[in-house]
Order: sequence, then structure tokens, then C-alpha cells
Amino acid sequence: MMFKVPRGTKDLLPAETGSWQAVESLIRETCRLYRYEEIRTPVFEQTELFTRSVGDTTDIVQKEMYTFEDRGGRSLTLRPEGTAPVVRAFVENKLFGSPDQPVKLYYMGPMFRYERQQAGRYRQFVQFGVEAIGSDSPAIDAEVISLAMDVYQRAGLKDLRLVINSLGDMESRNAHREALIRHFEPSIGEFCSDCRNRLEKNPLRILDCKVDRDHPLMKTAPALTDYLNGESEAYFEEVKTALDALGIEYVVDPNLVRGLDYYNHTAFEIMSTSDGFGAITTLCGGGRYNGLSEEIGGPEAPGIGFAMSIERFLMALEAEGKMTETESRLDAFIVALDEESRKEAVKILGNLRREGIAADMDYMNRKMKAQMKAADRQKAGYVIVIGEDELKNGAAGVKNMAEGTQETVEFTRLAETLKSRS
Ligand code: ATP
Ligand code: MG
Repeated sequence: MMFKVPRGTKDLLPAETGSWQAVESLIRETCRLYRYEEIRTPVFEQTELFTRSVGDTTDIVQKEMYTFEDRGGRSLTLRPEGTAPVVRAFVENKLFGSPDQPVKLYYMGPMFRYERQQAGRYRQFVQFGVEAIGSDSPAIDAEVISLAMDVYQRAGLKDLRLVINSLGDMESRNAHREALIRHFEPSIGEFCSDCRNRLEKNPLRILDCKVDRDHPLMKTAPALTDYLNGESEAYFEEVKTALDALGIEYVVDPNLVRGLDYYNHTAFEIMSTSDGFGAITTLCGGGRYNGLSEEIGGPEAPGIGFAMSIERFLMALEAEGKMTETESRLDAFIVALDEESRKEAVKILGNLRREGIAADMDYMNRKMKAQMKAADRQKAGYVIVIGEDELKNGAAGVKNMAEGTQETVEFTRLAETLKSRS
């Protein structure tokens, strides 16, 4: 029997993990500049955490969660997103009690959604996200957006489009909700069963429906922006002013609705406008979630965050030709010519590595020529040759591969010699 990776998942082989690591370190470095610190939460949580926070009517909860019962009869779910777990940890560990507010956190790890596999859509994917919890200053909204843009721009991406919108506060959202119900109710029979369900529970979701998107009532639906109260409008203005101050370009799209229930006020997405990118253009999505902490039993703690997948990040880099070539760099490769030399090589290898020199040797009993080829493939900086003569003299031939020069170095001085050259 042949086994395959589960549908929607993939193996990352060494040829790919180099670019993953490059992106990951760029992300960590950017977070450090903004003073966001890493948090790691479990890969599974109580199912109810997600049904309560993400929302019963969302695609995630209705169709995409990996939910299972453990042997103790508890319902658990592989996390489909990172915000609810982070806010849960914020509440449970009483981070709201810390003097450093807002609490600025980032996470990077696998998320799981049962989705139809296509380019840029996996069932296990890695999200990097940040959450700033404890402040409702519009300036922190701009900071969070700026961090996301910064990560992409530092990686060299240029074809980016930042779209923002305001969903308003609860009062604005309720007024809009009533208007949506009045708008869709008379003809709701013409909509899909999901939308019929959404009408009472969460009519905003209808606007995000992929089945009924061409129904004429979609275009004439009341826009959220027309229902923002004064306070919400003023908040949105301040976010825009802060973005201007940071020199960040954006477009306002009144139809931008995010896929999770807990959002209010600022919502944003970053798209790739690169030709090579493909059908799904969203790289990153985020927004403000005042009320989420209370929803899961915590104190009032307004928050904002975003999430992006590394998979789509790398797709964008690929599309713009900005993939960095990561070379595996081996400092030294030992070529041993016979059984006795091999024994000496093992000893030298140990010494080199203890001194922090990346080194390898042949374990396949290859002939000298094949060993030299292996050293070449691994881009070794130096090749150390040991044979009968070298053993006798206690000194190895050391070849500088870049310059083609050769010298003889005593076994005991190999590490120090190589170190002085690097
Ligand atoms: P979409 O409309 O593409 O389904 P979403 O609204 O479900 O996106 P979010 O839940 O906001 O996405 O997730 C934030 C980001 O995570 C997305 O912008 C995307 O970069 C990434 N993402 C979401 N789902 C997947 C997936 N199945 N595979 C890879 N990346 C994903
Ligand atoms: Mg989705």
C-alpha cells in the first residue's frame, strides 16, 4: 500500500524550507521593530470557543472546522484561525492585568480548515497574525495595518493593494442589519438556503455569499457606510489620518465585509495585484474586534489584528519574482580516501563541528571523484583531503573551492585555520 499526504496538505521539502525560513525570520524581525511578542497556543481548543467567537453562521463554523471528540467525550476543534485562541489566552492568563497595555502579540503556526483544495487554499496552512489587545485608539489600527504592509514590502513585494472599510460600532451595525433585513426579506425565497438562514441570524453574511453574488438585490443592498453613526465615522476618519501620517496608501471599499463575525469598526484586506498571482488575490485580512473578550467571558478589552498565510505570501513573492535564493552553506567537506583515513575523518569532523564549523563527509564509500562532486553539490567552502600520505604526516590537504588554491594543514590546526579564513 502506498500512502499519500492527506488532501489539502503538503510536504515542505528542503528545497522549499529555505524560503519559508527566510520569510519567517523577516516576520519575526519586523515584529521586534514594532514590539509585538510571540505567543504560542495549542493547536486544538474547545469547539465552543470558535462557535461563539467566529460565529455560527460563518463558513468556517458551518463547513470548515475539523471537530472531533476526544476519548474523554470532549468536543475539540483543530484551530481554524488564531484570534479566538489568542484572546482566550489573554483572558485566561489575565494579561489584561499587565501594566503594558495594549498587549501586543504575534503568532505563527498551522491552522486547519476543511476547504476545497485549489491554488492558495489548503486544509492545513500556516498563518502569521498579530493581535493588539486593550486599546481602542485609532492609531493602533494604523500600526497593525502598517506592520502587515511592512512585512510584505520588506520582502520586496510591490504589487500590493490595501483596502479598508469601517463596519461601525454595534449601534451602526444594528441599524444596517435592520435595513438589510427589510431589503432582502420580501425576495428571500430566491436566495440559497444558506442565505435564507443568514437573513435573521446575520444578514451581513448574505453580501459575502458566493452562490447569490449576481442576484440584482445584491447591488442595491444598503451600504454599511451609510449607516455609520457619528462616533463610528469619526473613528474611521482618525484611522485614515493615521495611515496618511505613516505614508500608507489605501482605497476605501464600502463593500468589504470580513468572513468572521467578531469584527467591528476597522476592517481591511491586502491583495496582490500581480498578474502571475492567480484567482485568489487576498494575502491578508484583519480588523477590529471590540467585544470579543467579553463574548468569551473576559473583561472589556478592545482589540485589533490580522492574519496572513505564509503560503500566499510565498505565492506573491514567486509571482513578482522576488524569491530569495537561499544557499545551503557548508564550510568544509572531508574527502577520505581509504578505511583508515575515514576513521581520522570522523574525529576531525567532530572537532570542526565543536568549533562551530559546518562540516560533512562521505558515508557512501564513494571514490575520490564522486566525493569531490558531492562537496561541489553541497557548495562546500573548503575540501579537506585525507589519504595514506596525509595520515602519515598528520596533515591534510585543504582546498579553497572558490579560489582553487591548496595548502597543507596539520590535523590539530584545521579548525583554527578554517575559522581564521571565514
Ligand atoms: P478567503 O476569502 O480567501 O477564504 P478568509 O476570509 O477565509 O479568506 P481569513 O480567515 O481572514 O481568510 O484568513 C486570513 C488569511 O489567511 C487570508 O487572507 C489568507 O492569506 C489566509 N488563508 C485563509 N484560508 C486559507 C487557506 N485555506 N489556505 C491558505 N491560506 C489561507
Ligand atoms: Mg475562507
